[in-house]
Amino acid sequence: MTIQNSIDQIRQRIDTACHKAGRDPATVHLLAVSKKKPLNAIEEAAAAGQKLFGENYVQEFVGKSDDSRLDIDWHFIGGLQSNKVKYLRGKVAMIHSVDRLSLAKEIDRQWGGCESPVAILIQVNIGDEPTKAGVTASELEPLVRQLALLQNLRICGLMAIPPQSDNPEESRHWFREMRKLADSIETLNLQNVSMTELSMGMSDDFEVAIEEGATLIRIGTAIFGARDDA
Ligand SMILES: *Cc1c(COP(=O)(O)O)cnc(C)c1O
Repeated sequence: MTIQNSIDQIRQRIDTACHKAGRDPATVHLLAVSKKKPLNAIEEAAAAGQKLFGENYVQEFVGKSDDSRLDIDWHFIGGLQSNKVKYLRGKVAMIHSVDRLSLAKEIDRQWGGCESPVAILIQVNIGDEPTKAGVTASELEPLVRQLALLQNLRICGLMAIPPQSDNPEESRHWFREMRKLADSIETLNLQNVSMTELSMGMSDDFEVAIEEGATLIRIGTAIFGARDDA
């Protein structure tokens, strides 16, 4: 199947899931996760109307974005070391994987002097898995309060990768927990903080994520096919 066909199919599935959940499809944004895929695959997706792309690895991202002349927005969604933030400066519209103050401070420092602050999401380790990045639910509020003081970033919501499962229904309660966490942060009414975005749902479980309130779904395999890492 071509990338164009895959994207068309996913858009239909998004519409169906939104209809089922009583949501406006315009409130769900598709992020095409292009890690380990070449620029020509990204170009093909862009030709099919895809605007948002997600990358995981700094070096790979910089190479592709420097080579690309496409009018697209990049989101950084992978694990991020503070010493690499400088390579992302001014090139990404959103960073999904902020989970500690030291990293946020470096993002704040790098975006100083940029025209506009960078949008960030806080990654939550919603299943409390020892091997996964992200703050735990109880660490979330204290971190948000600290990050809210940084002037060159805007906290726009939360991101999560729930525990791996073969059955998308098993992800539902994790997505629901994420929504509750976002709601509880929203009620704090902090400056620089709005829980507008919930980045959750991937190739295997995005419909359930949409039913539970996702606004950004991150899809790789279902658009570009399997990766070497899969
Ligand atoms: C790779 C990746 C995805 C996409 O996963 P697929 O199962 O290929 O859709 C989404 N989010 C993150 C953080 C990823 O690293």
